Amino acid sequence: MPDFEYTKTVEHLFTHCLIAYPSVAFSSDNPMKDDYNKDCITTNEFKKILNSLYKNNYCIVDINSVYKEKDGTIVKNSVKVPVGKKALVLSFDDVNYDHKKMGFGMVDKIILDENGNLATCTTINGKQEISYDNEFVTILENFVKLHPDFSPFGAKGTINVTGYDGVLGYRTQSKNKKNREQEIEKAKVVIKKLKNSGWNFASHSYGHYHMKKLNDIEFLEEVNLWKTEVEPLVGKTGIYVYPYGEWEVFDNLGNISKKHQYLIDAGFKVFCGVGMKTFYDYLPNKNKNKVLFMDRKVVDGNTLRKKDTNLYPFFDPSNVYDYAVRPSV
Ligand SMILES: [Zn+2]
Repeated sequence: MPDFEYTKTVEHLFTHCLIAYPSVAFSSDNPMKDDYNKDCITTNEFKKILNSLYKNNYCIVDINSVYKEKDGTIVKNSVKVPVGKKALVLSFDDVNYDHKKMGFGMVDKIILDENGNLATCTTINGKQEISYDNEFVTILENFVKLHPDFSPFGAKGTINVTGYDGVLGYRTQSKNKKNREQEIEKAKVVIKKLKNSGWNFASHSYGHYHMKKLNDIEFLEEVNLWKTEVEPLVGKTGIYVYPYGEWEVFDNLGNISKKHQYLIDAGFKVFCGVGMKTFYDYLPNKNKNKVLFMDRKVVDGNTLRKKDTNLYPFFDPSNVYDYAVRPSV
């Protein structure tokens, strides 16, 4: 079937790393259980969401295909999708598997198995478990194998990483004086495989700070840490995903702020916030420099539980919500 030019706004949904072991994550022994219940979804919920997105004729496009550079400015780019399909970007935040979270129901890291296939590795009850079915990477890989038209051009998701505790479960940060070089080598192999499989990476800052709480100098240090520690691993990316969806693009006079200029100078071109309404457009400023901004709809325990109406075009939250494993709130 011929592809056609998609004229509607490309939708963008995001969630966090999945809850792979709900009985551990929601156990009273997990001090973060309320946060997990709020901010995360389970593997079963994610699978139901994928099924529903597919039934509702969404297909995944690469976030890097929705913009282009024209005469030195960043402009929207229309994407093509097969007839009858709707364009969607999926992204996943905080994919570092923070060591503080280890053992509380998420996987420990993304790995390649001995055959070079993507998998996850987790120590659970003292034993190492390799799985192909308990994190968004492998679940989406499996889903696209089954339904290739969910990803007509081979795109998978956008992996939004920070750097303060490494990436993908590898302690690549400069503060790791123990085995940093080995961790970097391991991470690079996994990143290469992910990119070859259609995944791409975005910056979610280095330290996951509140942007507005940092002064300009502290913020520049943040950006530089990304450039020196994370970009060499995941490669250059034009996509910046604000931690906490907290953004500061303009100064008090309505001009581009210093912090935003640092991000532009670092090569970022599309800026992603958090919002339940569909928004992918230019933020205007006094000097007519326009900033391309994309909001992302949150898919987490909270929005599922609240049955946020903005999710209904994609899936019915009450059919997705995992009542059997989630503690009542
Ligand atoms: Zn985050």
